[in-house]
Amino acid sequence: MEKSLVLIKPDALQRGITGDIITRFEKVGLKIVGAKMIVAPEELANKHYPKDREEFIVGMGNKTLENYKEQGIDPVEILGTDDPKKIGLELQSWLVEFITSSPILALVLEGPHAIEVIRKLAGFTLPSKAEPGTIRGDYSFDSSSYANISKRPIRNLIHASGNLEEAEFEVGLWFTPQELFDYETIHQRHMTV
Ligand code: GDP
Repeated sequence: MEKSLVLIKPDALQRGITGDIITRFEKVGLKIVGAKMIVAPEELANKHYPKDREEFIVGMGNKTLENYKEQGIDPVEILGTDDPKKIGLELQSWLVEFITSSPILALVLEGPHAIEVIRKLAGFTLPSKAEPGTIRGDYSFDSSSYANISKRPIRNLIHASGNLEEAEFEVGLWFTPQELFDYETIHQRHMTV
């Protein structure tokens, strides 16, 4: 059993597709054990997207560079640099600005292999590469190069914890133990008989 954090980002709330997204998680059997609507304070957003987590910052920068290479775009022309760390830090500031700009819905979902299952349902980061049937593949078509030119994050509707370590950290960051609940779902009963 794992718990994972999902943030339904401002674009999903503003488009009125929050219910559809939650339904997809519920349909596979994931249990909602925490839920809150919040305008994230900047401090919380900076902890969620930590500037000092090299792996996260450089990882985002490298993903952007790879994507540009594939599309034959010169990163220096659009972002003024081809340094993955500098690009990652720039993306981090856009993410903090976006996530704090409007209400979001934070969820903790629980289930066997919840982290992997949620990432599968969410789909690939870039909407153009997210498979049909996934949340991002079915509901988003934003482009990374267009987002970069506009100096904003790709609008891809949700955040989902990437691994166990990240999930434990993020669940603890957004929820107190008292805000998490336990109850039995029909899916649990089916798995134990
Ligand atoms: P995720 O775990 O699939 O959300 O992807 P990442 O952790 O790599 O990136 C975090 C968020 O940053 C993504 O969900 C996007 O909103 C945004 N993002 C990622 N890559 C890019 C990019 O190349 N350009 C822009 N503008 N935003 C990006």
